[in-house]
Amino acid sequence: MRTFAVCALGCRVNQYDAEAMREQLLSLGYEQVEFSQKADVYLIATCTVTGTSDKKSRQMINRAHRKNPDALIVAAGCLAQREGEALLEIPGVGLVIGSSNRAMAGQLVEEALAGMKKSAVEELDTVFEPLAIGQMHGRTRVALKIQEGCDRFCSYCIIPYVRGPIRSRALEDCVEEAKRLAAHGVPEIVLTGIHLTSYGRDLGRQAYPGQMLAELLEQLNAIEGVHRIRMGSLEPSVLSEEFMARVAKLDKFAHQMHVALQSGSETVLRRMKRSYTKEGYARHIDILRKYWPDAAISTDMIAGFPGETEDEAKETIEFVRRIGFSHLHVFPYSPREGTPAAVMEGQLSTQKKQARAAQLIAVGEELKKAYIEQFDGTVQDVLFERERDGVYIGRTGEDIEVVCDTPQPFDRLVSCKLTLQDDIMHAQVL
Ligand code: SF4
Repeated sequence: MRTFAVCALGCRVNQYDAEAMREQLLSLGYEQVEFSQKADVYLIATCTVTGTSDKKSRQMINRAHRKNPDALIVAAGCLAQREGEALLEIPGVGLVIGSSNRAMAGQLVEEALAGMKKSAVEELDTVFEPLAIGQMHGRTRVALKIQEGCDRFCSYCIIPYVRGPIRSRALEDCVEEAKRLAAHGVPEIVLTGIHLTSYGRDLGRQAYPGQMLAELLEQLNAIEGVHRIRMGSLEPSVLSEEFMARVAKLDKFAHQMHVALQSGSETVLRRMKRSYTKEGYARHIDILRKYWPDAAISTDMIAGFPGETEDEAKETIEFVRRIGFSHLHVFPYSPREGTPAAVMEGQLSTQKKQARAAQLIAVGEELKKAYIEQFDGTVQDVLFERERDGVYIGRTGEDIEVVCDTPQPFDRLVSCKLTLQDDIMHAQVL
């Protein structure tokens, strides 16, 4: 029996694509082994979102080749879409699959093993590629891919060039997959896409942004066996009165939203070509809080964007404090060749970018601590997801990590009284 190993880098969408390809190889009778082990086939879902991701992708290819010089290495994902045939020059790489043809990964691997060196990198699709997953036994939280591509072209981002135009998965397909996952005992689903905010925009006229997303959430909320629904990264434009009035009624929809901001400075947002203004962002967050006053609101921030002045950096920190995020993901700006921002004037030094990032991270820790303290002494539903040294670890709807020292189920919500001790949230099951 042939063996294979998988390494998936980058975002949830890339992880999902890798899972779909993994399941194709399993259904062809291949046996999966750890990536650290010798295998006949290595499938690497590459990432190219930053220079570091490129390096990491190549490192994993070289590591696989060292592990088994005779193995077929399959380079899939975003770096593969970007570099295409060039990756076939790397020792061991015998198949390159970009951001399309992933639904045929199993067949392409068989052909490549039959000796046909192949690049299956093509022009990017304009329709959603029918990928599916289903073998997620024993997983507590699983990403459900509902959307592909992006047409925003933010000035620093390479993704639209490697993932292509927006494509939405048919609503019925999403519901069917969620039912499959629930039937396999997966209690929590995370809706994921490259630009979730665009879901449905290519499927027909929407009366307001996110209308079809709200429709999908309602249908997922009705599925027996789905206990919690989360959403991947959003833009503020979705958080309209119409959208929130509809989804706030859904009892399984976790009160946690990741709304990407990137900068709190109006002038920097303009140079980033982001699709909202500072005040517009704040208005949408106000609407969200009108329906979910205690919601966890996390975000992504880019520190040290080209030309960012001390004043702009200060403006960003003030705005982040004003919004009062529950969690900040901070990234020092990383120039991506081929993007407008990479050739912008005023590129900051690595030290300066890291210093700005450190400032933002410190503010983020402060805000996170203040946010979690609000839940001390409250009763919350917890989904436990793993056990470590006899301690059961789970998360509330607001994505707060809690610990419990008695055995807990991993397949349903448990009502718990929370107590904060030394920055650790303890859960007492009621
Ligand atoms: S919205 Fe902007 S940052 Fe996000 S994937 Fe699209 S281009 Fe990139």
